[in-house]
Amino acid sequence: MAQSKTFYITTPIYYPSGKLHIGNAYTTLYCDVLKRYKSLQGFDTYYLTGMDEHGKKVETSAEAAGIPAQDHVDKIAQETKDLWALMDIEYDDFIRTTEKRHKTVVQTFFEQLLKQKDIYLGHYEGHYCMHCESFFTDTQVGEDHLCPDCGRPTQTLKEESYFLKLSKYEKKLHDFIVDHPDFIQPESRRNEVLAFIESGLNDLSVSRTTFDWGIKVVSDPKHVVYVWLDALTNYVSALGVLDQDPMLYDKYWNGDEVLHVVGKDILRFHAIYWPIMLMALDIPITFKLYAHGWYMMKDGKMSKSKGGAIYPEPFIHRYGLDAMRYYMIRELPFGSDGLFAPDAFLERLNFDLANDFGNLLNRSIAMVNQYFGGEVTQKNAPTDVDAALEKKIESTVQDYDALMDAYKPAEAVQVVFSLISRANKYIDETTPWVLAKDPAAKDTLENVLYHLLEALRVIGTLLQPVMHDSSQQLFKDLNVDEDATVFAARIYGFKPVYRVAKTVTPLFPRLDVAQELDALKSATTQEAPKKEGIPIKAEITIDDFAKLDLRVGVITACKAHENADRLLVSTVDLGEEKPRQIVSGIAGHYTPEAMVGKKVIVVANLKPVKLRGELSEGMLLAGSNDETLEVVELDRLNPGDLVK
Ligand SMILES: [Zn+2]
Repeated sequence: MAQSKTFYITTPIYYPSGKLHIGNAYTTLYCDVLKRYKSLQGFDTYYLTGMDEHGKKVETSAEAAGIPAQDHVDKIAQETKDLWALMDIEYDDFIRTTEKRHKTVVQTFFEQLLKQKDIYLGHYEGHYCMHCESFFTDTQVGEDHLCPDCGRPTQTLKEESYFLKLSKYEKKLHDFIVDHPDFIQPESRRNEVLAFIESGLNDLSVSRTTFDWGIKVVSDPKHVVYVWLDALTNYVSALGVLDQDPMLYDKYWNGDEVLHVVGKDILRFHAIYWPIMLMALDIPITFKLYAHGWYMMKDGKMSKSKGGAIYPEPFIHRYGLDAMRYYMIRELPFGSDGLFAPDAFLERLNFDLANDFGNLLNRSIAMVNQYFGGEVTQKNAPTDVDAALEKKIESTVQDYDALMDAYKPAEAVQVVFSLISRANKYIDETTPWVLAKDPAAKDTLENVLYHLLEALRVIGTLLQPVMHDSSQQLFKDLNVDEDATVFAARIYGFKPVYRVAKTVTPLFPRLDVAQELDALKSATTQEAPKKEGIPIKAEITIDDFAKLDLRVGVITACKAHENADRLLVSTVDLGEEKPRQIVSGIAGHYTPEAMVGKKVIVVANLKPVKLRGELSEGMLLAGSNDETLEVVELDRLNPGDLVK
């Protein structure tokens, strides 16, 4: 027998900053779906996920909670594993960066890079964002010293630091990306990365001396390794890259297909730092990188306070795992952002799952029982309508495979549901209840029902990676053996005879949307996250405060910043002759559309600055914690009114 092809898929390792909402859960689910699909396709698969457990923020949170950092991350790792168990995620390994098997690899890599002078000791003086644990230059933070990635205030810091020579590998990486057009997907993200490299790469600061909770540099232990260098290494440390006999590494890293799945916000780390590390270490770059979009809420933000963040658990407990898996996969198209709204979720559940899918199964099985005592056989009298359905089954399988092979499960699932609609339409076209009244049409009727069961069997096989439990239930209702659910069985006519179950339990009940929305409102409201204990700043006088000119402004237009994922560019009317343009680091929390019409508070006498090329004439007030950012809004005042 030929050796199976291999497929190695990874999520980013998650940072233990609190409960995971559907944003993180999406990445993990997406990888699970692809892993299951590849396994069905006959690949030898390996799925890695885990936790990124080092860094200043972890140290601070643990101190605030009064527990050792290790206990803190142990607890969160367990909660994360519990969530993946609830979501039926079939990962093969869960790596934690506090594990010895990982630390050893990071330390060895660091010393090797130091020895070959790809890492060198220098000084860093710059603007440091504690949230992002990154340094930025003067131009990057602008005059208001805001982090260009997250919009939070930065602090000036000078520290001794080791640097990775990104500049040395700039050209080599650029060539690599140009030579491998599908290395970074989607293409828009690839272009962003190329443009970023073309603007010139500064050497990357890869050690910190400002905190302890990290992997120590062996030859200079007052330094800990920069969290990203530490974290990225997990993709090979988990495979035992430095083992005597690195079986997993040889098999999967150097295998047939390797895919890193990341959110678009951490693309740069994976598309630039990671490949350069590998180049410097002389490890082959075998992976492809897919950067997915974000789940947004109706008003744009995904916020943990005010019941605004969506957590998977209440949906799974109330509506079942498959409804949640279906919606999460279905609503985030390849490379784009998606909407997670409870009412849309409930409507999908009603229309797609209860009406279209569930009903098709119920009606078909009921008719087979009613007209044929539960048993039908393939007949050889196809009509044009039958042929059309057969053809639709064939083309659905082809389209589905092409989309799944291109890592597009959202689109693949839509193709399956178009077959479901087609099968429902086939019932309307063939009118079995009319045929049943005519004894001469018995074979025609049996032929119709047989077609429906075959369509359902193929639908079940196609939905397995996304809705495993429902597919199994469907196979049980159809009384289908496992050999009729494999990849090769996804053709019309594979199973010649059916003896179906006498009764079926509806796969998905129809729900009262209004009633469920009320129930969900209380179920999805979570306690606010704990404060991280940010110290109060130095005292000021009322005169200091009076220097601020705060005004009411109305946002009349808003767009995404072309060169920065986190920034939005708003047009704000302050009652002046001309509206102002204000750039804010809020794109992760609001869509441009959601900003329009908001009455906000503007720092009107702030010196204008350019943020990544866009002029910003003021600042919007917003509150934030580790997870959430909310723009402060007013209701009854008018543009230009004073705020004191
Ligand atoms: Zn930041």
